[in-house]
Amino acid sequence: MNIHEYQAKEVLAKFGVPVPAGFAALTVEEAVAAAGKLPGPLYVVKAQIHAGGRGKGKFTELPADAKGGVRLARSADDVRAAATDMLGNTLVTIQTGPHGKQVNRLYVTDGVDIAKEFYLAMLVDRASGRIALVVSTEGGMDIEAVAHDTPEKIETLTIDPATGIMPHHGRAVAAVLGLTGDLAKQCENVVAKLYAAFIGTDASQMEINPLAVTDDGRLLVLDAKVGFDPNALYRHPDLVELRDLTEEDPAEVEASKYDLAFIKLDGTIGCLVNGAGLAMATMDIIKLNGAEPANFLDVGGGADKEKVTNAFKLILKDPAVKGILVNIFGGIMRCDIIAEGIIAAAKEVNLSVPLVVRLEGTNVELGKQILADSGLPIISGDNLGDAAAKIVAAVKKAA
Ligand code: ADP
Ligand code: MG
Repeated sequence: MNIHEYQAKEVLAKFGVPVPAGFAALTVEEAVAAAGKLPGPLYVVKAQIHAGGRGKGKFTELPADAKGGVRLARSADDVRAAATDMLGNTLVTIQTGPHGKQVNRLYVTDGVDIAKEFYLAMLVDRASGRIALVVSTEGGMDIEAVAHDTPEKIETLTIDPATGIMPHHGRAVAAVLGLTGDLAKQCENVVAKLYAAFIGTDASQMEINPLAVTDDGRLLVLDAKVGFDPNALYRHPDLVELRDLTEEDPAEVEASKYDLAFIKLDGTIGCLVNGAGLAMATMDIIKLNGAEPANFLDVGGGADKEKVTNAFKLILKDPAVKGILVNIFGGIMRCDIIAEGIIAAAKEVNLSVPLVVRLEGTNVELGKQILADSGLPIISGDNLGDAAAKIVAAVKKAA
């Protein structure tokens, strides 16, 4: 689960990480009022979307030479102008995809005079089974180019979970960043606090870019992108509150309500499958037959009638879907129960596109019989290859 920058900074501040003061705003007036509560004279108005690259982003509705989603402001009028430009408009960055994201919230924060921008990320490194610290002196808005052109300027350290963060980790980061004296001390402190925040929130990633040295010798987190491990969210009801559903795909939000693993894709054939591996294989075989899947959908091993019905509804909400392939292995669930679920769902949603069902496993013959006796135009697939060929042919024929 991802959160906004302003939320990430609030979370980090609770762990003692130094961040500039700031306030979130949903309207232009709130943005101006937020600036009034800050000392000034420099403010930064920042678009809050779940994507990076905002500074270099472009607004679809504004002229091509208009500034991006991070703007410096020197007066209340500047703040008003920046907020007016951004709110309600669509920001396209290298991370949003070409459609961009609508800006519904802003963060108005203290502007600081930056002497140097560093990059510092923490993430779970599965290869080493440790939390990795990724550090570079070349922070700021061009970090992607640094990673591509001069990867040697990015250093990775890992932290042994048995010891946790130790002073030598902080010293190592300071050394990579070329910091000495008081700034090195601040660096050790920031690294230790970030690690505490990472562990304390069950984070899966924290990207601080930039971690800035200011002209007056402070080390500050100026941008923070934080994501949490969804499997640990039950331990953090306060973090769950931070979820912004408007940032997520509506179909995927709907799916999560029913505990369905669903990912929207661009093709025309809806897939309803139990088991992630089988779902992947189903998508592959659709492609092999010359069509594209409209979604990945794993209803899970213990799917019941209700889950299957919700899954059907979800698939059919997508106007791009021209046919559905159900591929279910009856292991824990018996095929006859699944067949009844499919029939109930097909009736309830008033199925209007071709439906191919491939069943395998316990009570498969009975399941197939129930489907055949239902009177519904359900096409039965004998195996995975046969089912995929049949749904692709049925969609072509209907088109
Ligand atoms: P993004 O990474 O999405 O482009 P950032 O928050 O990193 O957004 O902002 C882009 C750039 O704007 C930063 O690299 C930094 O140079 C500048 N910036 C961000 N916040 C501040 C701030 N509080 N004061 C001064 N400059 C800032
Ligand atoms: Mg940034």
